[in-house]
Amino acid sequence: MNNARVLVPSPVNEPVLSYAPGTPEREAQKQALAALKQETFEITPIINGKRIPTGRTETVHAPHERAHEIGTVHKAGAPEVEHAIAASMAARAEWSALPWEQRASVFLKAADLLAGPWRARMNAATMLGQSKNVHQAEIDSACELIDFFRFNVAYMAELYEQQPGSAPGIWNQLQYRPLDGFVFAVTPFNFTAIAGNLPGAPAMLGNAVLWKPSTTSILSNYFVYLLLEEAGLPPGVINFLPGDGPDVGDPTLDSEDLAGLHFTGSTGTFQHLWKTIGMNIAGYRSYPRIVGETGGKDFIVAHPSADAKAVATAIVRGGFEYQGQKCSAASRVYVPNTLWPKIKEYVLEQLAEVKMGPVDDFSNFVNAVIDQKSFDKITGYIDRAKNDVVEVVAGGTYDDSEGFFIAPTILRVDDPHYVTMREELFGPVVTLYVYDANDFDDVLPLVDSTSPYALTGSIFAQDRYAVNQALKGLQDAAGNFYINDKPTGAVVGQQPFGGGRASGTNDKAGSILNLIRWVSPRTIKETFNPPHHFGYPYLR
Ligand code: NAD
Repeated sequence: MNNARVLVPSPVNEPVLSYAPGTPEREAQKQALAALKQETFEITPIINGKRIPTGRTETVHAPHERAHEIGTVHKAGAPEVEHAIAASMAARAEWSALPWEQRASVFLKAADLLAGPWRARMNAATMLGQSKNVHQAEIDSACELIDFFRFNVAYMAELYEQQPGSAPGIWNQLQYRPLDGFVFAVTPFNFTAIAGNLPGAPAMLGNAVLWKPSTTSILSNYFVYLLLEEAGLPPGVINFLPGDGPDVGDPTLDSEDLAGLHFTGSTGTFQHLWKTIGMNIAGYRSYPRIVGETGGKDFIVAHPSADAKAVATAIVRGGFEYQGQKCSAASRVYVPNTLWPKIKEYVLEQLAEVKMGPVDDFSNFVNAVIDQKSFDKITGYIDRAKNDVVEVVAGGTYDDSEGFFIAPTILRVDDPHYVTMREELFGPVVTLYVYDANDFDDVLPLVDSTSPYALTGSIFAQDRYAVNQALKGLQDAAGNFYINDKPTGAVVGQQPFGGGRASGTNDKAGSILNLIRWVSPRTIKETFNPPHHFGYPYLR
């Protein structure tokens, strides 16, 4: 019997390996990627720890090498969902009764396995399946997921320590129960770390989970499941349900046991899920917790005092890393006319050095976009811009013969409300508006009101008054705000992530604020010497 009040290890951010020529990690990563390309996978739903082939299959290919077959996915539907709900409700009883240190241990072990023996293979799956270069894979599927697991354990311990005060003769306590039902985790293609965190965080707090991964990131997501299994996660705690959105979503949201939705993906999908929950509300045993992080139209605003080279670098990294397929990717930029010639020169200089191609060649900075649908959508916007006589400052070309490649594209618009300044394209397209340097005061309300999103944004300025003015003027325009830095690359434990308005519920993944959503506290009041008669002194 452990009667100790244990301390959890203090988390430290996982160091990002460089993969520079000559490093051991570079060699190991190349080998892991080559080995993975020799394999093909048959990925099925996993319910109560059991593989369940359904025969309804889809073949998955590498986005940068369409001819390369990664494997086959068996898709779940209503029968598998029903099975998974029963499994999760049964697992919940035992899992939630387990001492929390035991649950913590599973995730700390998963973090250590991922930092060590799993690292190269997980990165390889993210590179091959989601077309990330080695650096983008390292910061996502290795470092960020390791950080989520380790930091969340520390936040869980911190949360459990929050207790109410007690008056004389009374002892008050808060118990942190998991939610009364199961949690539905629905994950996007673009971050393996998010795919691991959305089912992982509620499970850590004692919940049982139905996890619907994205088919376009299925290989790395399957590996995340295998990692947790190896780390000792009991069967049924997380049930893995690949499939088409509505086939899995509709029967899941129909269940009276739905207690929470942990979603990351597009705004449209989130609004659909929220609406469905709203329609079904009278049928649930409890009010489902809804946490959703969705799209963005993330901005960079340069003040006339900005460092032009730093702005140019932020545009190239913030706009084009992972092909602009980050919810936080810089996609609209406001620069003063006084700085534009220099910024343009530096951006074009840097873009001339950018190489695009498959992930096996580590000198490629830009790889492919995720699939045909995405390629068609993004190139549709580019063609429309050309037709609308928008200036194409860079890129504008594309080719899907071998893989879904779109050159990093910069559009310069005269109309600051042009469609690509407002809508999320989710690709390597940055739209830029040059404003009169005397009009900085008017630019801030323009930035604030142009798009429905409020996820991330940056101000570049050397002038401290301008920085402060932007902080105030753009207070509600971004949940993650950057000063003299690109608006991407949030680190767990350092910049808790999430946005408001159409971008989500802003429950800040990678912080205690997110974990709070996965518990249903029970207040206990114990009275040591209870009264023996109803009368109060005022009655005398
Ligand atoms: P998506 O909305 O197309 O899909 C997300 C997930 O929802 C997928 O697993 C999909 O299959 C599932 N889904 C779709 N319809 C469903 C239904 N009816 N029922 C249940 N599940 C359903 O998004 P995506 O293309 O995978 O991801 C890109 C989007 O995610 C972008 O909009 C991006 O901005 C956003 N995103 C946001 C954040 C953030 O933290 N704010 C982080 C990453 C990505």
